[in-house]
Amino acid sequence: MTSRDEIRDVKALRDDLDADARRRGHDMSWRLGPNATRKDHAYFWVGDCVNCGANMRCALGSSSCQGVRDARKVACSGPGTVVLTEIEAGRALELAADAVAEFGRQVAENLRRAQDD
Ligand SMILES: [Zn+2]
Repeated sequence: MTSRDEIRDVKALRDDLDADARRRGHDMSWRLGPNATRKDHAYFWVGDCVNCGANMRCALGSSSCQGVRDARKVACSGPGTVVLTEIEAGRALELAADAVAEFGRQVAENLRRAQDD
């Protein structure tokens, strides 16, 4: 179980990150991360800007970004631009899928060559 001290510290970090993001124009919507209150799971928060879709997460002593726009670093691109972020995220997934497929083709080719030797 997450201690009260840990919950307090993570919330304080979330609030600091939120204030910092607001200075860059973001309007963060925060929610507890998946399984964040379950035993033996990390207690963390996930935030997305309602205007531009920038993302960040915070846990005990750390923060990160899981999206294509890092709310900790970039300025808000304004209301209604979340759709552009969604398009960019979709394209990033397509590129990753293509790269994984190419990797699989190269592994298969290398296995064929190794068997021929
Ligand atoms: Zn924003």
